[in-house]
Amino acid sequence: FNVPVPKNEPVKSYAPNSPERAALKAALVEARSRQIEIPMYIGGEEIMTADKHAVTPPHDHQYVLGYYSLGDASHVTKAIDAALAARENWANLSWEHRAAIFLKAADLLAGPYRAEINAATMLGQSKNAYQAEIDAACEMIDFLRFNVYYASQIYGEQPQSSEGVWNRLEHRPLEGFVFALTPFNFTAIAGNLPTSAALMGNVCVWKPALTQVYAANVLMKVFKEAGVPDGVINLIYVDGPVAGDVILSHPDFAGIHFTGSTKVFQHIWKTIGDNLSIYKSFPRIVGETGGKDFVVAHSSANAKAVAVGLVRGAFEYQGQKCSAASRAYIPANIWEEVKGYMLADLASMKMGVTEDFSNFINAVIDEKSFDKIAGYIDNAKNDPRVTVIAGGNYDKSTGYFIEPTVLLTTDPMYTTMCEEIFGPVLSIYVYEPDKFEETLELVDKTSPYALTGSIFAQDRYVIEQASKKLVNAAGNFYINDKPTGAVVGQQPFGGARASGTNDKAGSILNLLRWVSPRTIKETF
Ligand code: GLU
Repeated sequence: FNVPVPKNEPVKSYAPNSPERAALKAALVEARSRQIEIPMYIGGEEIMTADKHAVTPPHDHQYVLGYYSLGDASHVTKAIDAALAARENWANLSWEHRAAIFLKAADLLAGPYRAEINAATMLGQSKNAYQAEIDAACEMIDFLRFNVYYASQIYGEQPQSSEGVWNRLEHRPLEGFVFALTPFNFTAIAGNLPTSAALMGNVCVWKPALTQVYAANVLMKVFKEAGVPDGVINLIYVDGPVAGDVILSHPDFAGIHFTGSTKVFQHIWKTIGDNLSIYKSFPRIVGETGGKDFVVAHSSANAKAVAVGLVRGAFEYQGQKCSAASRAYIPANIWEEVKGYMLADLASMKMGVTEDFSNFINAVIDEKSFDKIAGYIDNAKNDPRVTVIAGGNYDKSTGYFIEPTVLLTTDPMYTTMCEEIFGPVLSIYVYEPDKFEETLELVDKTSPYALTGSIFAQDRYVIEQASKKLVNAAGNFYINDKPTGAVVGQQPFGGARASGTNDKAGSILNLLRWVSPRTIKETF
């Protein structure tokens, strides 16, 4: 197939006086200058309801950016009907034409919509300019372009034939519709979950987190402008359980593409199990869920590299990444040095609104999240097993701000070493250097998750030892690097155990889940 060989979209710097910085600043001002109506998009129609909800920046929660229309069960049904009505034409369109639409969407995001999608992500989700750029621009563009390339490999894969017999594989889309249930923390994931399934010929009902509608609305505009036909991707804003009830009990439900919490995913899986007799096919269940991602340092590690990995891994985007470093195991011989570098690094980090580009730390997503994270910090402050060595303060008067917080604990099984917090809280346990082997054991056993993790060491035997011992503890394993920031086409992303089905976002493995091949044998 003659498809472009993808290259990762270069990350722009947004340096002072750069043209991209000026464009982004202008987009931020423009977004703030108006209050928009955010409709649902069902079968190509823009749907408003009387049930309006304000969208406010998490870092400035009294300021209204716009209002989205909340739908109900009838909108879910309408979205399914619109998807099924669009299905035949879309499934029969040759794949190059579907690919062309998504390649165009990538170009629109790389050029004319880059500032708008980044501004929407900065305002709606409280990401700083750099975090928005690597997500809403670069990663989204990479997903679209790399998926087209991987799709070409799937469609090109054909079985052996012989004289008198011609065997073919027809990579049909699933028979029904796909439900894309997407998270707030990555605009790129929100866009990838419906578009990857749609690229393979599926029609989708897309329900984003209600804390991410502001950027989802921009993505939908881009998909429409790129030529996604009416009904192929239907964007609805409804409460999760309302959508779940209607969708998971529909006979044409053919698969779910999910990123979110382990608890919700388990509930969905059970519901699908209970409803199996209703469906035409066994639905595809693809999910990326939680993480409790580790950093283990060995006594041979470079202390500065460990400190940088911890600060970046734990506090970029306020720790609201499934991949965030949230529990660390540091040997006593390098601890003071690691701590010194960390505290110096943290002291230089400013916290505040995203519109001020010098702020590295912004707000957490909403009040519910703020209260939950603050609760963990309060408990830690009152626990004799814990010392707060950085941060620990929070304030929600104007925005949901929580200082990057580092907890040192004498108990490796303390709550914050085990539970996913999804916020700017890093817990550290200092171990005796001669207990490295036992520490690896501890890392493996402490949490049910297995998404990402890092080993820092100079000693090659140690690196191999950790890699083997932790073989099932992380789907993305990093050596001398932070456990976040997987790049499409370079580090396929996903984990097993309680972290999901490990169908590696942005890889051929993921796209294979959205086809149901037919084998054809013809005899001459
Ligand atoms: N892919 C992202 C990373 O490598 C994390 C995705 C997530 O938080 O769901 O940091």
